[in-house]
Amino acid sequence: MKLKPSKVEVKNSDIEGKGVFATEDIKSGEVILDMDDTHVVEDKSTLTQYEREYECDWLGDGKTIHMQAPEKHINHSCDPNTYVKTIDSIRRVVAMKDIGVGDEITYDYAINGYYDSDIACRCGSKNCRGTLSPNFFKLPRERQLRYLPYLDTWFVEKFKYQLEKIGYPIHMEKKPKQHRAYTLETYNPKWAEGFEKRAEKLKTIFGDEAIDIQHVGSTSIPGIVAKPQIDILVVVRDRSHVQSFAAAMESAGFAYMGANYIPTEEYFVEDAPDGKRLASIHILEQGNPKIDSYINFRDYLRVNGEDRALYVATKTALYQQHGDSYASYDAGKKEVLEAIKSRANQWAQER
Ligand SMILES: [Zn+2]
Repeated sequence: MKLKPSKVEVKNSDIEGKGVFATEDIKSGEVILDMDDTHVVEDKSTLTQYEREYECDWLGDGKTIHMQAPEKHINHSCDPNTYVKTIDSIRRVVAMKDIGVGDEITYDYAINGYYDSDIACRCGSKNCRGTLSPNFFKLPRERQLRYLPYLDTWFVEKFKYQLEKIGYPIHMEKKPKQHRAYTLETYNPKWAEGFEKRAEKLKTIFGDEAIDIQHVGSTSIPGIVAKPQIDILVVVRDRSHVQSFAAAMESAGFAYMGANYIPTEEYFVEDAPDGKRLASIHILEQGNPKIDSYINFRDYLRVNGEDRALYVATKTALYQQHGDSYASYDAGKKEVLEAIKSRANQWAQER
């Protein structure tokens, strides 16, 4: 069903193997060819190593495309003259600048790329980065800014929070609080295991940047009733560094909720495929007074049976009343929660 690409031909390239060359003058902004994305790879073991390494395109949502000719022959250049953009649901190769007859068509594999490799680059351009590492997030900042207009929709959607930080003009709105179904459960020792498991992952991701990782919130308090959602506090040296871990967090299943979701912290969440929230990761810079609040609340309710009972009774009553609306439940417990937090902070000071 694909249009015959008339503006290009495949022949030997000075960069690498075969390349794709313009057979006519092409103006900046012009669509050069439509990519054939119908060859979705279901089972990577059916491919040869060469096909896996050189002929696959890794799109969002884990979709892998076995690229077809001519697009599979398009070489990388650190000074590209095209980019790929999804227009009307088809990925199309678009000219980034005017291209003359006989010029090789190239694109930069780091545009829409989020993988690392250490294959040497032989593009021969003046600003060659030396390796072909196709990872947008590891490009120098001025290069990222230059490429922002060329990013494809799926890539922007997948990495919008990171891209917004770099300067992509997505005006992120605070995600509305969902009226999602929720459950209230009696304390379960498995919650502590749920924390340990995730703390290991977070330790690996943040390395020395993380000074402390603690289990906080209701699931850290034996004897409580809670929504089975693990709250984790990560204390970091410098909040401004957190952004650079967002891609790794994303790969580990933690989605970044944006800088303004909770203004005092960087906030990541882990949701089950059905949308149920499994964990919340609260990342705070050392010295932030909210760190003590999280810890005081937990430590206080672990030892103060009276307030623990008050909190359990409040939650249970609200759950019976507003079992279908988490927002109402959350709003309802606020007053009691704030009062307990304030007593917890008082208690910690007097200790
Ligand atoms: Zn290069």
